[in-house]
Amino acid sequence: MTPEGYLFERTGGDLALDFANTVDGRPTPRARELLADFGDLVSWGAQSGILGEGEARRLRAAARKDPGGAEKAVRNARALREAIFRIFSLAAAGRRPTPASLETLNDSLSGLGRLRLAPARDGCAWVFRGAAADFGRVVWPVSRAAAELLTSDALGRVRECAAPECAWLFLDGSKNGTRRWCDMTVCGNRAKARRHYEKTRRRRFRPDPPHRRRQGM
Ligand SMILES: [Zn+2]
Repeated sequence: MTPEGYLFERTGGDLALDFANTVDGRPTPRARELLADFGDLVSWGAQSGILGEGEARRLRAAARKDPGGAEKAVRNARALREAIFRIFSLAAAGRRPTPASLETLNDSLSGLGRLRLAPARDGCAWVFRGAAADFGRVVWPVSRAAAELLTSDALGRVRECAAPECAWLFLDGSKNGTRRWCDMTVCGNRAKARRHYEKTRRRRFRPDPPHRRRQGM
């Protein structure tokens, strides 16, 4: 936690995958929703560079005035996140997306109608133009990123973390395409610790060799 809210880990290497990773311990009974309320969604948007400081502040103020609208927006964001997770989790297994997930993503692409060109240092940049307090503005760039990843060669580098309790998605940027963990310092180390534990446990429970038992008698 920070004064600005939960500090999100962004190890996905892609905006859409980072968004899919806003559930902790997804395959376990202790799964934890990291987008518990609209404030979390704004924090994630700010930490991901989607929202500037002023935009985040205006959105929080708008949510205080319209809690129902904000709640609906975070529900929609979670539904989109689940669709994105399913699509890329299947892609990581070499499988095609389900029509239902694709439809959810397609519906969210309506935000692309807000795309405008704005002058930038070297030419122009795509920016999303919307009302300052539009509750959907955090997810527009996410759905665009998901669509772009889904139609790019990088799709073949999407992986799901090998830790059975994790299921976070990431873009494998390793030279030989063998990265296994979302974060070596978290899941990689946990797996190492588990292997060590299993090894020492096997050692501890191994019965004494017969000759030593005889000696002890
Ligand atoms: Zn992991």
